[in-house]
Amino acid sequence: MNEVKTPKKPMMFYYGIFLAVIILFNAIVMPLLSNMRVKEVDYSTFISMTVNGEIGKVEIQDNKILFTDKNEENVYETGTIYDPMLTERLIKYNVDFTGEIIEEMSPILSILLSWILPMALMVGLGQLVMKKFTDKAGGGNSMMFNMGKSNAKIYVKSSSGIKFSDVAGEDEAKENLTEVVDYLHNPDKYKAIGASMPKGILLVGPPGTGKTMLAKAVAGEANVPFFSISGSEFVEMFVGMGASKVRDLFKQAKEKAPCIVFIDEIDAIGKKRDNHIGGNDEREQTLNQLLTEMDGFEGNTGVIILAATNRPESLDPALTRPGRFDRRVPVELPDLKGREEILKVHAKKICVGPNVDFSAIARMASGASGAELSNIVNEAALRAVRRGSKAAMQADFEESIEVVIAGYQKKNSLLTDKEKMIVAYHEIGHALVAAMQTNSAPVQKITIVPRTSGALGYTMQVDEGNHYLMSKEEIENKIATYTGGRAAEQLAVGSVSTGAANDIEQATRLARAMITRYGMSDEFGMVALETVTNQYLGGDASLACSAETQTEIDRQVVALIKKQYDKAMAILTENKQKLDKLAQYLYEKETITGEEFMNILNA
Ligand code: ADP
Ligand code: ZN
Repeated sequence: MNEVKTPKKPMMFYYGIFLAVIILFNAIVMPLLSNMRVKEVDYSTFISMTVNGEIGKVEIQDNKILFTDKNEENVYETGTIYDPMLTERLIKYNVDFTGEIIEEMSPILSILLSWILPMALMVGLGQLVMKKFTDKAGGGNSMMFNMGKSNAKIYVKSSSGIKFSDVAGEDEAKENLTEVVDYLHNPDKYKAIGASMPKGILLVGPPGTGKTMLAKAVAGEANVPFFSISGSEFVEMFVGMGASKVRDLFKQAKEKAPCIVFIDEIDAIGKKRDNHIGGNDEREQTLNQLLTEMDGFEGNTGVIILAATNRPESLDPALTRPGRFDRRVPVELPDLKGREEILKVHAKKICVGPNVDFSAIARMASGASGAELSNIVNEAALRAVRRGSKAAMQADFEESIEVVIAGYQKKNSLLTDKEKMIVAYHEIGHALVAAMQTNSAPVQKITIVPRTSGALGYTMQVDEGNHYLMSKEEIENKIATYTGGRAAEQLAVGSVSTGAANDIEQATRLARAMITRYGMSDEFGMVALETVTNQYLGGDASLACSAETQTEIDRQVVALIKKQYDKAMAILTENKQKLDKLAQYLYEKETITGEEFMNILNA
C-alpha cells in the first residue's frame, strides 16, 4: 500500500491562488507605490509647519494625519497623538481641513494597479505554465479551458485509407469484422429484422499483430470517420478530466455517426476495479463514465466502438458484459502462411530482387509478429542500400531476420580464440543434439558472430510447418537440445561457462510448464498447479498450490532437466568425433548453413 497518490487540484485551488496573489499585491506593492509620494514626518514637524503657515490641506484619519505643503506639491504623513488642541490650532492658522480626501493616486490608476495588473499577470503566468505542460506532453491543448476535451484524432475518409487487403493474414479477424462493415454500409437491412450490432468489439492479441490496422481498415472499408484515442490519454492529472474526455469523445462521435471509435490499450482505463486503499479514483471515474456512455446510446446509432488490448484477463467484467464489449475478436500471431503474406504485403513497398523465396523467409521468422515482419522487410531494404545494391536479395532478408531477432553483428568484438572455440562447441552441441533426436526440427543456420543483443552464437532452428500441439517427447527433446550447448562445453573443455544462461532459463520454463500446466508428470497428473496471467505478454504464470507441492515441483523440475542433460551428454559422447569436426569447421567459417552441417554429419 505504498502507492503514491497524485494530488487532486480542483479549480477552487486555482481561484484561491488567484485571490491570494491579489491580496498580497494590495498589501505589499500598493503601499510601496503610494509611499513613494508620501513623506513621513514627526508630529512636531506637523505642528511647526502649521504654526509657520506652511500647510495647505489636512486630512485627519483614524491613525494618521495626511497633509500637504502650501503649494500642494508634497504629501506628508504623521501618526496621530492625543492632541485636543488640534482643531483649534488648525482654525487659528487658517488651515483647510475639510474631510476631503487628499488623493494619493488617481482612482483609475489605483484600480488598474490593484486589480487589472495582477489579473493580467496571473493569466500570463497560467498560459506559460500550460504551454510548458502541453509541450512536455507532446502537443495537445494550449489553453487551460481546453482541458477535459478529448483529443481523439479523427481520420476522416481519405482515399489513402487502410483497407482489409492491407492487413495480411488474420483471416478470421477480418471475417468477423466484415459484418460490421456491412452493417455500416446498409444499416436498414439489419434494422428491418430487428438485429442490432454489438456496440463494442474487443480486439485481443499480442502487440504488433495488426489490431490498430484492423480497426482502421474497418473504417476504411466502410468509408466512415475514424476516431482513435489511446486509453492512457484518458488518465489525466485531475480527477474528473478523464470522464469529461469520455463524454466529449462520445458527443463528437454521435455527431459524426456512423463512425468508428477506436480505443487503443483499453486496459489502461478498463482494469478491474478493486478496493485497494489509495486506488485510482480518476481511472475508476473514467471507466464508470465509459460504461455509462456505452449504455446511453442505442445499438443502432451507428457508432461502433473498437478497442484493443493485450491483457484481456485484466479487464473489468462490467466492460465485457453483454451490451458493452461483448464481442471478442482474437488477433493472434501469424502462422506460416500469414507470415508469408505479411512479408509480401510489405515487400511491395521496396525493390525486391528476382528470386527471393518469401516462404523460406517466413519459415525462418517463426514466432515473429506482423510488426516484426514489417521491420524485417525494412531492415533488408536498408541492408541492400548499405551494400550499394538496387534491390533486396534473399541474403538481405535472412540477415535482417537475425538483426531483428538477435540484434546487429558486433563488428569489433573482442572474443579470444579460446572463447570462440567454446562458443563453437556450444552451438554445435545444440545443433547436434537436435539433429540426432528424430523429433527435433533440423537446423537452418548456425553462426558464432556475436550480436549486439549479447548473444555470442546463434542456432536457427526451422520448423517445417505449423505446430499446434507438442507431445511430451517433443518437449523433452527440446529441453535436451537446450542443455546440449552446456553439455558440449563440458565435454570439450572440461568446464562450463556463463554462455548457457538463456538456455537454462528456457529449459526450466518448459520443464516447469510440463509439470504444472500440461499435466505431464506422473505424480500430479492432470492438476493445474499454475495459472497463466499474461497470455499475450510473455505468458507469466503464478503458482496456485501449497508450499509443500511447490517444493515437490521444484524437485521434479530439477530431476527432469538433469535427465535431459544426461541424455544430451550421451548423444554428444557417442558422436564426439562429429562434434569435434563440426565445431572446428564452424570455428573457421563462423557461419554455416543447415545443409553444410548435415553434409558433415552424414559424411
Ligand atoms: P497492434 O495495434 O496490434 O499493436 P499495429 O496494428 O499497430 O499493431 O501494427 C503495427 C505495424 O505492424 C503496422 O503498422 C504494420 O506495418 C505491421 N503489421 C502488423 N500486422 C500486420 C498484418 N497482419 N499485415 C500487415 N502488416 C501488419
Ligand atoms: Zn545455447
